[in-house]
Amino acid sequence: MSSETTEIDDESPTAAETDRSAVETKRAGISLSNIEKSYGDVLAVEDLSLDVEPGEFLVLLGPSGCGKSTTLRMIAGLETPTDGRIDIGDEEVTRTLPQERGLSMVFQSYALYPHKTVRGNLEFPLGKMDVSDEERDAKVEHTAELLEIEDLLDKKPGQLSGGQRQRVAVGRTIIREPRAFLMDEPLSNLDAQLRVRTRFEIRELQQELGTTTVYVTHDQEEAMSVADRIAVMNDGELQQVGTPEEIYKTPTNEFVAGFIGNPPMCFFDVSVGEGVELLPNGESVRLDTTLPADTETLGVRPEDVHLLRTPAADVANVSRPDLDDLTNAMTCAVRVIEPLGNAYELELARGEYTFTARVRALPEGVSPGADVEVAFDRTELHAFDATGEAIR
Ligand code: ADP
Ligand code: MG
Repeated sequence: MSSETTEIDDESPTAAETDRSAVETKRAGISLSNIEKSYGDVLAVEDLSLDVEPGEFLVLLGPSGCGKSTTLRMIAGLETPTDGRIDIGDEEVTRTLPQERGLSMVFQSYALYPHKTVRGNLEFPLGKMDVSDEERDAKVEHTAELLEIEDLLDKKPGQLSGGQRQRVAVGRTIIREPRAFLMDEPLSNLDAQLRVRTRFEIRELQQELGTTTVYVTHDQEEAMSVADRIAVMNDGELQQVGTPEEIYKTPTNEFVAGFIGNPPMCFFDVSVGEGVELLPNGESVRLDTTLPADTETLGVRPEDVHLLRTPAADVANVSRPDLDDLTNAMTCAVRVIEPLGNAYELELARGEYTFTARVRALPEGVSPGADVEVAFDRTELHAFDATGEAIR
């Protein structure tokens, strides 16, 4: 994980040689074509097509039960698809055995051998591989250095912290120089702080090794922070594939829009006529903006809700100072104010709606119970039709 590790490669012919041969294989692309998996009546994965580019860090993201692990296990060969086809590199593997696929998998639980030392655990995956003792030692040392666990080689798992054990588990994955890494919620057993640090380390390591990676998580923030691209799943179906920015800026449907982003996007039922009317009519507000005629739901991200006026003052404290971009003002009650240090989240209420505004500064007079006027950034509105598809 430090820059020295690359230099050590250059000095060690064994490591350099292994690395060169690994380069040819470790950037295998993975292609899923119309994959389906059912367990009796349960359709766990439905008509899934997805190409993971060679060397890419792809995150499979979605709520619990949406089919992420099943998909990963089909790539690994631990499950056979009911239908469809899987290719790794230029080879079809749909029905081949896991050990013939040249992949490594890290599971949620680290599954280290408690009675073996760290060295023993790291060596284990090399098992039946045809490597000399020298090569074996070199691989262990090299892997331990990459993960900065050289000092732990003679310890047993029970003597390690959660984070250290997790590194050893990752070490076991990379030591064989697989064609791809498959990781299923590898950080879920770590505490919050360690999770954030470890995800950066995994990302850094993946960039250093250049190995194709498919990484499963239900945590959108984790996905956003490590992925080259994210594949969002829901209910067995692929919803959208794109870079974190694409998924955030242009979600293809209401599910993706609501799943990505914290606090989440706020949704309003609307009817589009002259301007956009927030429903129900009893609380109607006409926004002076245009949306496609068949818009049924308006989506607004908290950072696109701006404070215009408070009981104390006009604020024009809009982070985007272009007032022309804002819709007309709408009066709301402030329910809760949550200071985040570098920003504030305001929970606002209007009629039956509660929604969130995220603002940099808290203007005078804004307190729970106060009425404020807010407006939406017209250029950042999301519109969905009756089926939930994004139409703007
Ligand atoms: P995720 O990893 O996204 O939480 P899974 O892929 O584990 O979801 O599960 C997807 C769906 O398939 C769930 O409804 C789950 O109950 C079902 N499922 C997974 N594995 C099995 C199995 N071996 N037998 C029956 N149903 C299963
Ligand atoms: Mg799972």
